[in-house]
Amino acid sequence: MERFSLYIDGCFEAGSDEFSSLDPATEQPWAIMPEAKAEDVDRAVKAAQRALGDAAWGGLTASQRGKLLYRLAERVEQAAPRLAELETRDTGKIIRETRAQIAYVAEYYRYYAGLADKIEGAHLPIDKPDMEVWLRREPLGVVAAVVPWNSQLFLSAVKLGPALAAGCTLVLKASEDGPAPLLEFARLVHEAGFPPGVVNVITGFGPECGAVLTSHPLVDHVAFTGGPETARAVVRGSAENLASTSLELGGKSPFIVFDDADLDSAANAQVAGIFAASGQSCVAGSRLLVQNSVKEALLDRLRRKAEAIRIDRPNDPATEMGPLCTARQRDTIEAVVAESLEAGAERVTGGERLGETGYYYRPTILDCSRAQSAACIERELFGPVLSVLGFEDEAEAVALANGTPYGLAAGLFTRDLTRAHRMIRALRAGVVWVNGYRAVSPIAPFGGSGLSGHGREGGLAAALDYTRIKTVWLRT
Ligand code: NAD
Repeated sequence: MERFSLYIDGCFEAGSDEFSSLDPATEQPWAIMPEAKAEDVDRAVKAAQRALGDAAWGGLTASQRGKLLYRLAERVEQAAPRLAELETRDTGKIIRETRAQIAYVAEYYRYYAGLADKIEGAHLPIDKPDMEVWLRREPLGVVAAVVPWNSQLFLSAVKLGPALAAGCTLVLKASEDGPAPLLEFARLVHEAGFPPGVVNVITGFGPECGAVLTSHPLVDHVAFTGGPETARAVVRGSAENLASTSLELGGKSPFIVFDDADLDSAANAQVAGIFAASGQSCVAGSRLLVQNSVKEALLDRLRRKAEAIRIDRPNDPATEMGPLCTARQRDTIEAVVAESLEAGAERVTGGERLGETGYYYRPTILDCSRAQSAACIERELFGPVLSVLGFEDEAEAVALANGTPYGLAAGLFTRDLTRAHRMIRALRAGVVWVNGYRAVSPIAPFGGSGLSGHGREGGLAAALDYTRIKTVWLRT
């Protein structure tokens, strides 16, 4: 069995306790993970606090910080095969997807490496001849970065990249479900030459490790990605340290198809939009809203594509869909699908487990036109389940699209440009993809509103968010 370590203050160490990680494809334990308890978390935060003021980090110029980030990007690229293999093994995400995503992770670090020396202050033209007034942008401080199991390397990069560019220090908490890729990533941080304490990587269980970290008195900012219920606990915890928070939460994103759309291209994007990562993606296009006149034609294409998806071992490059990450996740989906069918949803395809071993669930499409089920309309399932609703006109499409407490992403398929503009304005979503789905770039901000959280990751603004302004008045 492989064994992993915590990374605190530049040292690799065992945690106060340990737990074993299961391979979601075989349900067998394959690695021993360190568990950070309260005292480990406390040491990690104190190390980050010390590093902030230490000349080895605090005394670096912005371009020196950028160089370290470039080196980290290089290390990520060199270690990509091992990182991909670990993420696939520990979370069940297929190797094809983990490989593709890690290439992106390196791009994010490179983007923020380049931004480090472009974070500028300002001079203010105050109406006093004997005063010079300017704004300095200083690091926000110690950041607690907490991520869920899906896409951990990517969800960390969008936090570490801008935070390190701005000069912050961090304690990064990997999910207890599949922490291997981030614990391995700590080695790359070490090799890249970041001074001790600048990046600390821990894992442990939410109610202890996560809660102690996010409410720690020395933490200045919490960058959280996860579910809305956990986010509420994090925000309550921030009443202790009064840390600022950015919250990237879930979604029930609408994928809207009008009757003038290219149905083949919409079907391809919808299948990838919901079944990639076995549906365990915050931006999963989990609600198909389709104009009634083309509903049958689109559903027919989707059913054929869903049934042709090759489901197999996640480490086989030919596999197109793997297992869910945990038994808990598979059981929840099973229960919610049963509830939806009971409430009147019609099964277009799927709706059941697959195989005896591993947390596999078939790609599932439910026609929810006659179901009043929360699962169909508003509950995020985080699994390979697509709910379908028909609409008559644009007004109904907007009402359905915005009829959830979330506001993360939306997909829109139409050839009518003026309608596309009207829809873009009307949709409650932090990102709208038109005639495509799921594109991301380090340059493009990403985030939501409502139950999808607040704050944006990606882009220049994210780096500024990790700074605080100091206003200086100098009498001349
Ligand atoms: P989760 O909320 O259960 O866990 C996320 C992290 O929070 C884990 O590291 C966990 O240990 C930690 N945690 C748990 N309890 C805590 C507490 N009391 N205090 C502090 N930390 C605590 O989420 P999950 O089920 O692992 O992940 C799925 C969720 O993440 C979904 O809702 C999904 O939509 C969301 N997500 C959002 C994005 C985005 O960018 N918007 C991306 C990926 C996933």
